[in-house]
Amino acid sequence: MLVEREPLPESNASPDPILQPVSSERGNMSHNDGYEFDWEDLGDIKTGRPNLGQETSVLSYRLLQFTFKDVLSKELGGERCNQLFIQAGRLAGQQFCRKLLDTTLPFEAFISALQKKLIELKIGVLRIEKADLANLDFTLTVSEDLDCSGLPIFGATVCDYDEGFLTGIFNEYLGREFSAKEIDCWATGDRTCRFRVHPA
Ligand SMILES: [Zn+2]
Repeated sequence: MLVEREPLPESNASPDPILQPVSSERGNMSHNDGYEFDWEDLGDIKTGRPNLGQETSVLSYRLLQFTFKDVLSKELGGERCNQLFIQAGRLAGQQFCRKLLDTTLPFEAFISALQKKLIELKIGVLRIEKADLANLDFTLTVSEDLDCSGLPIFGATVCDYDEGFLTGIFNEYLGREFSAKEIDCWATGDRTCRFRVHPA
């Protein structure tokens, strides 16, 4: 948040006060000037929610996501909206991997840690259906997916954010550009989401 400050005393005044931090708080939380994600912005949830705790409902998560989808697709068009969801998911996956996973683990141990984390955070139940390590070509399923399990059948996949999320995790872990595409989804009438992940 931008905070107005008293002018600095003459002796400490910077030749260019614009370059000086205006506050010890996160300067880019002023959303009018744009925003860049920082993991620390997720806050100290334990202290902030001593009674309600760390968890929320799937309903509130989906309400947030689907209202964003509504507004962004009306403002920017469906295709651009989907691209932005993928982009945001990718950022989330990259940060999630950096902060919560150990990228020095070998593949099987890394996937096992990822599976545990996704269950712990109630994001979904990940399984590896196919892993061609020579070509880095993977087919993954996510059951009870936070984004889509139980949705009406739209006849199209809807887990754009998840596509980005998986891309971000694989990019970060394997150190190269990946692409994740959802090929089955609850919203296409399947009981699980299925993603093909391979080098971009
Ligand atoms: Zn899905």
